Amino acid sequence: MTTRTVQQVIQSIPASDGAGVKLRRSLGQSQYARLDPFLMLDEFSSEDAADYIAGFPAHPHRGFETVTYILDGHMLHEDHLGNKGNLKSGGVQWMTAGRGIIHSEMPQQDRGRMRGFQLWINLPAKDKMKPASYRDLEVSDIPEVALPGGGKVRVIAGEYGGRKAPVTPGATDATYFDVHLPAGATFKHAVKDGYNAFAYVYEGALDGIAEHSAAVFSTEGEVQVKAGAQGARFLLLAGRPLREPVVQYGPFVMNTREEIEQAIRDYQSGTLATA
Ligand code: FE
Repeated sequence: MTTRTVQQVIQSIPASDGAGVKLRRSLGQSQYARLDPFLMLDEFSSEDAADYIAGFPAHPHRGFETVTYILDGHMLHEDHLGNKGNLKSGGVQWMTAGRGIIHSEMPQQDRGRMRGFQLWINLPAKDKMKPASYRDLEVSDIPEVALPGGGKVRVIAGEYGGRKAPVTPGATDATYFDVHLPAGATFKHAVKDGYNAFAYVYEGALDGIAEHSAAVFSTEGEVQVKAGAQGARFLLLAGRPLREPVVQYGPFVMNTREEIEQAIRDYQSGTLATA
């Protein structure tokens, strides 16, 4: 089988979002640093409460999905629909903003480590205006597959080793793994031809991919990576490209400028998230 090669490396850059949460942004640092259907990937990691305590007070989204994966810490999600969700270590929140959601994501700790990721996955035009929905997955809801040479795969979306994730993404058919590899170990995964894929290393290194960088793979064959001398922990993302125009304005991601203007008007008039 063909092995995918690394086509581009996107080094994360320091950024700040919400009310001043310090993070590293790889995908999404500019409009050229996206990988259809993935719009953005942020990593936050700090032992210093000053870096995260301000959290993400109430803000809107329209037109895409946000996937929050907490490695360490505790965040509380609240939204205008009255949903409340606790995100704790190892857990995931999969939120489909659709036509609109207004939510907050606030730390429930004032000390200790807060560490995790937020990924934005685009929605196709046909799904951008569907009602918002979300799912909280606890650590025990996420299948874990032990690897023969040590290490493991946590299956957040997609399927690995016969274990299926509880969330079934729609048109993007997204795969989302958290892979832990011991030093020198190789990991292979077949991704459908034509699907885009990237790996984001958050601890250690893979051959040719440094810590805190995203590597974008070529589009045919299987992903094959090898951990460096310190081992590696990385996210593997893959999905079907939507091949639609992307017009983004902050937390709104639509296909046209007119739709963005509509989103802003709807937000201002209080109808963003109502039918
Ligand atoms: Fe948000």
